[in-house]
Amino acid sequence: MKRHIICIWPALGILLCICSTAAIAISTEPQEPAQKKKALFVWGGWPGHEPKQCVDIFAPWLKEQGFEVEITDSLDAYANAEKMKGLALIVQAVTMGQITPQQQSGLLQAIRGGTGFAGWHGGIADSFRSSTDYEYMVGASWAAHPGNIIDYEVNIVNHDDPITKGLADFKMHSEQYYMLMDPNVEVLATTTFSGQAQAWIQGAVMPVVWKKLFSKGRVFNSTLGHVAADFNVPQAREIVQRGLLWAARVPGAGDDPKPTNPYAPLVKK
Ligand SMILES: [Zn+2]
Repeated sequence: MKRHIICIWPALGILLCICSTAAIAISTEPQEPAQKKKALFVWGGWPGHEPKQCVDIFAPWLKEQGFEVEITDSLDAYANAEKMKGLALIVQAVTMGQITPQQQSGLLQAIRGGTGFAGWHGGIADSFRSSTDYEYMVGASWAAHPGNIIDYEVNIVNHDDPITKGLADFKMHSEQYYMLMDPNVEVLATTTFSGQAQAWIQGAVMPVVWKKLFSKGRVFNSTLGHVAADFNVPQAREIVQRGLLWAARVPGAGDDPKPTNPYAPLVKK
């Protein structure tokens, strides 16, 4: 009889243990999984830049990286406070076009608050030409592509930044963008104009890839990507992919920018 009692107590203990584990499992079941970062792709404007085809390269890829992705062809999203709330990233592919004061206000407010803003070619740096507030946020404005579709080289000037790390200089056959630049951006890659199309710009070194801050928001741009086929150049595609992660503040994708400020050395101290 005594032997029976000794055997029962450990058995009861194990039973209690199983029951309490089951209770914990049940109580934790309704909890939500870790929240995904949200990204909004906005495309439109001049169709020659194939905005939808380009978005179709990067949106599925970003989804594979664990983002919740929404795609729209209307700038109305910017004026929709509910939609803008909680966005980690806005990817815009809208060349030229018009933005209303309400749309612009919603967009800039989101970026000031910490939403990232990223794009390529004219999709963010040649949008809404009459909006200086928008251009100030982007940090550049497109001016020309001398010679139109030409052969040129892209030079990686920062080999430590995760956006350009491990990439060698590469060649493009496309538009070589001549930008009006904000000095308060960090330049990661450049191109040099040969002067063949317009002799007076020979030797001009122009940013191709840069990152900057607009208040709390990270802004990324690459001027490569005139048409979707330009992203068949692996480096051109890779740079945008990495830039999207950086702008969305994905851990390990890079730090806040250290502005290049190219005119600072001219100031005599
Ligand atoms: Zn173009």
